[in-house]
Amino acid sequence: MPNYQKPWAEPYKIKVVEPLKVTDQAYRTEKIKEAGYNTFLLRSEDVYIDLLTDSGTNAMSDYQWAGMMLGDEAYAGSKNYYHLEEKVQSCYGYKYLVPTHQGRGAEHLLSQCMIKPNQFVAGNMYFTTTRLHQELAGGIFVDVIIDEAHDPSVILPFKGNIDIQKYEDLIKREGPEKIAYITVGAPVNMAGGQPVSMANMKEVSEISKKHGIKVILDATRNMENAYMIQQREDGYKNKTVAEIHKEFCSYSDAATMSAKKDLLVNIGGFVACNDWDLFEELRNMVVIYEGLHTYGGLAGRDMEAMARGIEEAVMDENIKCRVEQVAYFGDKLHKAGIPVVLPIGGHAVFLDARRFYEHIPQIDFPAQVLAADLYEVSGVRAMERGIVSAGRNAKTGDHNFPKLELVRLTVPRRVYTQAHLDVAAYAVEELYEKRHEAKGLNLKYEPKYLRFFQAKFEKKD
Ligand SMILES: *Cc1c(COP(=O)(O)O)cnc(C)c1O
Repeated sequence: MPNYQKPWAEPYKIKVVEPLKVTDQAYRTEKIKEAGYNTFLLRSEDVYIDLLTDSGTNAMSDYQWAGMMLGDEAYAGSKNYYHLEEKVQSCYGYKYLVPTHQGRGAEHLLSQCMIKPNQFVAGNMYFTTTRLHQELAGGIFVDVIIDEAHDPSVILPFKGNIDIQKYEDLIKREGPEKIAYITVGAPVNMAGGQPVSMANMKEVSEISKKHGIKVILDATRNMENAYMIQQREDGYKNKTVAEIHKEFCSYSDAATMSAKKDLLVNIGGFVACNDWDLFEELRNMVVIYEGLHTYGGLAGRDMEAMARGIEEAVMDENIKCRVEQVAYFGDKLHKAGIPVVLPIGGHAVFLDARRFYEHIPQIDFPAQVLAADLYEVSGVRAMERGIVSAGRNAKTGDHNFPKLELVRLTVPRRVYTQAHLDVAAYAVEELYEKRHEAKGLNLKYEPKYLRFFQAKFEKKD
């Protein structure tokens, strides 16, 4: 036997390729300036390796593409809807399905149906679109994640867990009737892709049941969470990801889903639930904002790709490859001494911009600077997850100052090889060596909602 760890490889081979444009630094310096130092405003064709997001950037399989040809493009009752419904029922375990164009469509419907003005909504850290829809529905978001989740250097197997004490204190302080529901995101995107344990989810479910509070799962990346439970939690080593995933869902009353992540497609989402009355309300609402309840803003072919994506996404070898590829990239950076969020999460590697650019104060947007600089030196595109993403306090209008000031390097599913990730890691290391040269940014233009998507900046002198 060779004296090193047995390697693993992707459980697929490449059938179609898309050429990438290679540019030089002078070109990129110009482009990032034009984009107002916001990587969301770059043109994709000017990007070499795109680690902006894993949302809708997945490579579909031949099985999914074949399904696209079987799109039943009927306005009502498409057979692809029924196929998707069957997969959601068998794989997630919820009774009722309402498709939506993507995750925020589902969040919008659910928030409008379940939140009364001035009710509280508990959650394990926030997600940008989730919290915004809760607030637009009149809710007041309360973070009940464990404190350690806000510290990028604490190593815990389940750093996305709900702090049971914080949750119970909230119930005691406000009364259960003032709480619309609790959202459990697993893994927690904004905390660096940190998972939630089955034991924690079970406890949240029990407490919520006792008080009559509904548990809503943000199931967007739940298959990654299930894989991490299989690897880390006692009693799950011999269960399949499919079994763990379904058990996890069973501790919730409803779920919102961005299919653009776990489900290996380019567009789609859904909201699913077990309660008929809620389903009726969601169905009523979806026709206003998305489309009829049997297509929810999607083409029949999109729903078919999603149904087939569910089948592939829950297979142990597929999800293992997904999470281990991210771990490979993260370990490489960590071993090179780059400050990254630990443990490495399921979908992305997060650079700790506070430690990377120690000399840039948070008010000068260090993570925004780092994402822009990385593009400039290498053509690798990442995104800011810090003060810009955190937005402003809805009441006072001041910046929110999050503890985590991060840059997210997100790995799209089945798109890049480890060689691409080696190139990206090299670029980060190169930048780290000349970190002292970096300068902060001034905010030049700021949209009202989700400002990180469209804000523009200029370099400080
Ligand atoms: C992406 C994402 C969403 C929102 O979904 P969209 O499809 O982008 O609208 C919600 N929650 C989590 C955890 C996500 O990662």
